[in-house]
Amino acid sequence: GHIEDSFGIEESLSELAQLADTAGLTVVGSTYQKLATPNPRTYIGSGKVAEIKSSIHAFAVETVIFDDELSPGQLRNLEKAFGGDVRVCDRTALILDIFNQRAATHEAALQVALAQMEYQLPRLTKMWAHLERQAGGQVKGMGEKQIEVDKRILRTQIGVLKKELESVRKHRKQYRNRRISVPVPVVSLVGYTNAGKSTLLNQLTGANVLAEDQLFATLDPTTRRVQTKNGKEFLLTDTVGFIQKLPTTLVAAFRATLEEISESSLLVHVVDISHPLAEQQINAVNKVLSELDVSSIPKLMVWNKVDKASNPQKIKLEAEKREDIVCISALNGDGLDEFCNAVQENLKDSMVWVEALIP
Ligand code: GDP
Repeated sequence: GHIEDSFGIEESLSELAQLADTAGLTVVGSTYQKLATPNPRTYIGSGKVAEIKSSIHAFAVETVIFDDELSPGQLRNLEKAFGGDVRVCDRTALILDIFNQRAATHEAALQVALAQMEYQLPRLTKMWAHLERQAGGQVKGMGEKQIEVDKRILRTQIGVLKKELESVRKHRKQYRNRRISVPVPVVSLVGYTNAGKSTLLNQLTGANVLAEDQLFATLDPTTRRVQTKNGKEFLLTDTVGFIQKLPTTLVAAFRATLEEISESSLLVHVVDISHPLAEQQINAVNKVLSELDVSSIPKLMVWNKVDKASNPQKIKLEAEKREDIVCISALNGDGLDEFCNAVQENLKDSMVWVEALIP
């Protein structure tokens, strides 16, 4: 990667690996190169291209992901250089894939589709120019016409999507208050990518997922039912992770995938307290939350991975001083009872309300 921000190359690449994992890919390795300026043809230098190519053969690699945005030309040249069926993509395309998988509402799906089309629009042009060159100029002009046709089609689709989004939004605002609630409070996990949200979700609910439970059979895989020891229950839902280097073109799509959290009774902010940049990550998450319509929803902060921290005692003492923080280790189960108690405590009001609804 050609990255010069405070986040650092190693951190950015490990975040990219985590994103790839979230998208369902298995990461076999990563590498980087420091260049004064990126190679205009292949982004990386030819030696690096050869090095990656040999890894591709050694590990039967199917996808190569670049941390920075590649130009359409670089993307094509790299695919050609790596050969075979190797797919080359960049961070933006990977994040779009994840958003696509995670878009839970109709509105979010529309927003992601829109971002995908806007990402494609400039890439269309170069693709046709390339085909034209390949044909040795014999079809000169044809490519250009085709670009115009394709662009017009894409722009029309973008226009249709935008209109649809607008009407979905209007509709949602109108009907939000009339919606019938699920008769169980919904708790949303938010947090930086890799903080341990899905580990917590699985740890708390692994034994609780009942195949015959019709009410919850229709829930998406990122929402589970949690039953506490004293028989209370709540729905716990995972959200797509927050990340530092979110391309600006994707910010709207990201917000849309998060919008459903405004319907929840409690937000649980999961923090990887063992991470050297924990504070920056907390700030990044808070910044996005402050831009969403969630200020009235109670929040609970969870410091996770205490087992991995170099100074667990100090961390626990610090958390005790502040009432709104629970220390856990999602991996080995430490502190999960305390976590459930804290959730219940925070849900008290909505529990009363929920119980009053049930006949
Ligand atoms: P998410 O992106 O927030 O959903 O994070 P994951 O749940 O996928 O966890 C990211 C990584 O952190 C995984 O490798 C987990 O095994 C690890 N992890 C999660 N919780 C803990 C913990 O309490 N302690 C330690 N040591 N590792 C953890």
